[in-house]
Amino acid sequence: MSLPQFKLLRPRSVAEAVAHLTKYGGGIRVLAGGTDIIPSMRQKLFEPDYVLDLRGIAELRGINPQPDGGAEIGALTTIRTIERSDFLREHYSVLTEAAATVASPVLRNMGTIGGNICLDTRCLWYNQSLTWRKGCGFCIKKDGDLCHVAPGGTKCWAAFSGDTPPALLCLKAEIEIAGTNGTRRLSLSDFYTGLGDNYRQLQPNELVTRVFLPASSAGYRGVYRKLRVRGSIDYPLAGVAVVMKRSNGHVADARIGITAVNPAPLLVKGASELLRGKAVDEALAEAAGDLAARISKPLTTSALTPEYRREMIRVFTKRAVLAAAQAGEN
Ligand SMILES: Cc1cc2nc3c(=O)[nH]c(=O)nc-3n(C[C@H](O)[C@H](O)[C@H](O)COP(=O)(O)OP(=O)(O)OC[C@H]3O[C@@H](n4cnc5c(N)ncnc54)[C@H](O)[C@@H]3O)c2cc1C
Ligand code: SF4
Repeated sequence: MSLPQFKLLRPRSVAEAVAHLTKYGGGIRVLAGGTDIIPSMRQKLFEPDYVLDLRGIAELRGINPQPDGGAEIGALTTIRTIERSDFLREHYSVLTEAAATVASPVLRNMGTIGGNICLDTRCLWYNQSLTWRKGCGFCIKKDGDLCHVAPGGTKCWAAFSGDTPPALLCLKAEIEIAGTNGTRRLSLSDFYTGLGDNYRQLQPNELVTRVFLPASSAGYRGVYRKLRVRGSIDYPLAGVAVVMKRSNGHVADARIGITAVNPAPLLVKGASELLRGKAVDEALAEAAGDLAARISKPLTTSALTPEYRREMIRVFTKRAVLAAAQAGEN
């Protein structure tokens, strides 16, 4: 499958990038590592007139520990850099765990944290060639007006399938977005809309520039568990991140995030309240699994059945909670 024709723009600064986005609006697509957008362009899911290659913007690379104990990560920082960061492993281990499961080493060398956060949602009926999609009459997410997964509905249920966002949600991460009117900062949980088609709160003239990890989230034990068909390469079909702080054998604080089973990555509501102040045992971990499974709404957007993916959210949550509790006190 060949790439559609486009003009490549290579800005050297955020200001230059925003100027291009403002000028070309809907006819331009951002490229960071290119590991997801290039295959999608080959499948003619995107046919932009212009591609904005961010890789020349040096200011958007790197992990910068902050004086208050938090951290700032540039959007172009590669997943590999995050996976290998001693600072992040020591203070925000759930993020390095999740990063280590993304795709394969080659793709982690190219792929960026910004691209992982902004990753397009996925569906069996969408991530296909133009000929394949045409044969099925297209769908709401691209070129059509019906959903093959939930016929009769008007909503797209394509699943958000990035590995690092559930970890970032557990860490209460915020992101910086640059646009024509300067920068704005918002919590990552507010970035996702919950819709499979318009899945993120990003205007055509905006790009994600930085990720902020608060000092208050440092030092939690972190665990990430992921379901995929092959042990390497594959996108998650269900993913669970858990962070936990313990004291005197009891949970002082904990959060659970899930991915790949809804159109957005989600924090599991009520998980902190359920776990806080208690000693973790099988029954408590199972109750956390039930809670996570309850908000998982996978549909037939992937090769594995929704029932199995939802069940694996329950199982992985239980295992991740037990593993986080066994990791020792902090
Ligand atoms: C075979 C294969 C397996 C994969 N497996 C996994 C997996 O297991 N887990 C996983 O999470 N991902 C997986 N991926 C997807 C991808 O490799 C990663 O998500 C990667 O982190 C994407 O980053 P990127 O920089 O390459 O993004 P790109 O491909 O450059 O961009 C992805 C999307 O984000 C937008 N974008 C990128 N950066 C910005 C920004 N700063 N501001 C605004 N928009 C932006 C782009 O316009 C595009 O829509 C896989 C990909 C392939 C090809
Ligand atoms: S969930 Fe429905 S509308 Fe969305 S990509 Fe799949 S088939 Fe298309």
